[in-house]
Amino acid sequence: MILDSIKARQKQIFRNPMRRGCALSLCAIFLCAVNLVFGGDEVVQRKILATSDMHGMLTSSDGGMTRYATRLQQERRNAASPMLVIDCGDTLCGSYSALKTQGALPRAVFDMLKVDVFVPGNHEFEFTPERFAQLAPPQSVAANLTLQHRKYPGWKLFELDKIRIAVIGLAEFHTAKRFLPRDGFRMRSPEEALAEVMPEIRKAKPDLVVLAVHGGIYYAGGTLFKLLAPYPEIKLILGGHTHEEIPARKVGQALYVQPGNRAQNVSEVVATFRAKDRQLLFLESRLIPLGKTPPSPDVLRKIDKELKKVEQDGLRPLGREISVGPGGLYPSAGALAMEAMLARPETDAACFLEYRPGQKLQKIKNCGELFQILRYYDPIVVLQVPAEVWRELQKIRVKSPSRLILMQKPGTQSKKILNVALSEYLAAGAGNAATKVGEQLAPFYKTCRELGPVRTLVEEHLAR
Ligand SMILES: [Zn+2]
Repeated sequence: MILDSIKARQKQIFRNPMRRGCALSLCAIFLCAVNLVFGGDEVVQRKILATSDMHGMLTSSDGGMTRYATRLQQERRNAASPMLVIDCGDTLCGSYSALKTQGALPRAVFDMLKVDVFVPGNHEFEFTPERFAQLAPPQSVAANLTLQHRKYPGWKLFELDKIRIAVIGLAEFHTAKRFLPRDGFRMRSPEEALAEVMPEIRKAKPDLVVLAVHGGIYYAGGTLFKLLAPYPEIKLILGGHTHEEIPARKVGQALYVQPGNRAQNVSEVVATFRAKDRQLLFLESRLIPLGKTPPSPDVLRKIDKELKKVEQDGLRPLGREISVGPGGLYPSAGALAMEAMLARPETDAACFLEYRPGQKLQKIKNCGELFQILRYYDPIVVLQVPAEVWRELQKIRVKSPSRLILMQKPGTQSKKILNVALSEYLAAGAGNAATKVGEQLAPFYKTCRELGPVRTLVEEHLAR
């Protein structure tokens, strides 16, 4: 039923509409048989599977990379023709196991999935761009990314049993704003990146052009409708970043699909081509929930030792038990982070941007629980900032429920230059709320000193 309704919507997507009186039966779609007939023509089908925003989630009750591993195994076993497997990023960062291994454990599981294309998300850079340069899987494709002077491949051509599919990768468009400027790091605009790769792709004459992007249909500064208008040959967009579940939506000439997050679903796209000239006839897509697929025992066995070590680490008690939230010892996670930053002798003042819609009072006694309230790696930097600029920062207002907290140590009022601690993300002006902070601080980036990730500062502080 679901498939039928999606199919009905897909009818509009292509210039070569389904011919009257012809329909593929449900079972035929899933068989991927080589000798299907459609509208009097013999057709062939190829399947593309896509994930996004798995956020280092290895196991969970309703998804996770280990359940996806099982599904992939089944898909590969049953496939009548080769498939393409694509991941649209925010894969290596976001879980406690990712944090404790600096992305290494999710990367190990990612390798076991044997994905064909990987597009870096914004969180891939969270352990610093230097760490991502070490972690980046060899399948990385990103037409807009140069990291450590290395320009990533912008697109790849796959030949699946004579059907040629070009896949373009675009990393999240605002990644450069999420950390302080780096030598050898450059993000080209998506317009510039597409203008560069599309002539090469047109020359290669693939049978299908796919855009895999760590981004939603709408983004700050534009929309995919506008971005892709000059490129009607891009027929399929595999998206991510916004964590939406979108089984099928028409974006200009293309079909947009997005699977949600944490491997709760995988996007499945079936492309049907006329066999004689490999012309794309239509695309169909749906989301396959992974909650009922058992986690792969094979993968679990391989990571068992490392996973147990991480779980054990989560139980490591903090120096003292605290309560965080309304009525607690610390009214918010931000207040705790501020105290830890100000406890460091290198700092005169600190600044923290917190997002706290509907927070509850929580007892925090171990490292795993601390992760629940401070989930981001957030490297803390200290910048030398003139007192007048510090006063300007105090005037910045951000939209609720975000809150910008600023505090200064007693006895530093007469200082002309203040050592201000804040997360690198905030200093760089990431997110709309923090843009003004970044604008004020940009002239002082060269004075930057690193203090370490926020959670380490808090753990050390609570141990004192
Ligand atoms: Zn993202």
